Amino acid sequence: MKSSAKPTPNNFVLVVFDSCRYDTFMAARPRTIRKLGRVEKRWSYASWTSPSHYNLLIGLMPHTSPRHVYASEYYKKEFIKFNERLGTDDFEFKSLVPKMFLPSFLKDTLGYRTNAMVSLPVLNPRTILNTGFDTYKLMEKHNDMGAMVRQMSFSETQPNFFLLNVGETHYPYALPHEPPDQWPRISGVHGIFKHLDDEVVGGKLLIKKEKLFNNQKLKELRHRQVDAVKHLDRVVEELFDTVPNNTYITITADHGELFGEDGYFGHGPIHHEKVWEVPFVEGKLR
Ligand SMILES: [Zn+2]
Repeated sequence: MKSSAKPTPNNFVLVVFDSCRYDTFMAARPRTIRKLGRVEKRWSYASWTSPSHYNLLIGLMPHTSPRHVYASEYYKKEFIKFNERLGTDDFEFKSLVPKMFLPSFLKDTLGYRTNAMVSLPVLNPRTILNTGFDTYKLMEKHNDMGAMVRQMSFSETQPNFFLLNVGETHYPYALPHEPPDQWPRISGVHGIFKHLDDEVVGGKLLIKKEKLFNNQKLKELRHRQVDAVKHLDRVVEELFDTVPNNTYITITADHGELFGEDGYFGHGPIHHEKVWEVPFVEGKLR
């Protein structure tokens, strides 16, 4: 006899490594993160933080750029994937209508406790992105995923959703223990976190002439992003130890980053393939 009781949905943790482009992620050879599954190269829908997170929160993960299909067919397939993520069987595109916002749907329809911890001020709790969340916090430091993991608290009576926007991979690619006076400086590139405006304008690309680029420096910056991913791989191990059973984890990035290729640095007002390329990996450990 079939039981009519619905299984409890999975916890779902969406981790966004800000500005982490696909090839630096792969160069770091993250062993722990790979336990989730195969790392795919995907493409972001947007080239900077705010619209990209909006997109993620309407349930559209970075895309696979499939040929010979209609976008509507692709979206349908993408949304059905949420049944696997959430451990449910009745999620479809129209489930999100009319709000078209994943946290609201998870909270109002599926009874999730919804939490966000963000690193970038442009995603601060006063933005419209703070819709449908029970808790939404701008972290004290922009580059400390470990602090997020330590602050995660899981309801035992509700399934839990977490959005973690992680800043170690964002310029200046600084690890939490590194003193700010040792962070790299690029002439003409704004410091990111003192002023919200810096990030709002995409932040960093006020360099006017290509001659201002210093190739050695840019190489160094790319290495710093690789090192940030290596560090995050260790933090993800703490995440894996923290989450309860039945937790589905998706790790991706909101957009890529340019390290001098074709005269570009950073992300935002850039049209270049490297600003779209992001890693994508997901799965359930246990
Ligand atoms: Zn970003």
